[in-house]
Amino acid sequence: MECVFCAIIGGQLPGEFLYQDDAVVAIKDVNPQAPVHLLIIPRRHIPTLLDLDPADEGLMGHICNVATQVATEQQISAEGFRLVVNCGLGAGQSVFHIHFHLMGGRTLHWPPG
Ligand code: 5GP
Ligand code: ZN
Repeated sequence: MECVFCAIIGGQLPGEFLYQDDAVVAIKDVNPQAPVHLLIIPRRHIPTLLDLDPADEGLMGHICNVATQVATEQQISAEGFRLVVNCGLGAGQSVFHIHFHLMGGRTLHWPPG
């Protein structure tokens, strides 16, 4: 499968893991846009938000819980952090395996552009 995140999760490509469980992983983004920039990624290959099933509601909630746990561990929760999903080319999605950007450690402006 030609998916970079599947390859990282499967161990065929290197990744810096900060969290792992049966359903999701958190890795450092290779091109960080903030002092803390992690990616929370479900192990299962789901291309975009549009491909989610109703049965994935629990998985999405779990990702939010993992994100807040990791944000606290990374000491960005008190000052504020951002959890972002880009869906589709027009939104800037470049890897078509759902991932949540967890960003913090600096002032984050809005709108992101
Ligand atoms: P998107 O543009 O799809 O929302 O986000 C993709 C993210 O994946 C980008 O922030 C990019 O830097 C990151 N990325 C792309 N390839 C790799 C890789 O091989 N390893 C890691 N750790 N991150 C990657
Ligand atoms: Zn994948």
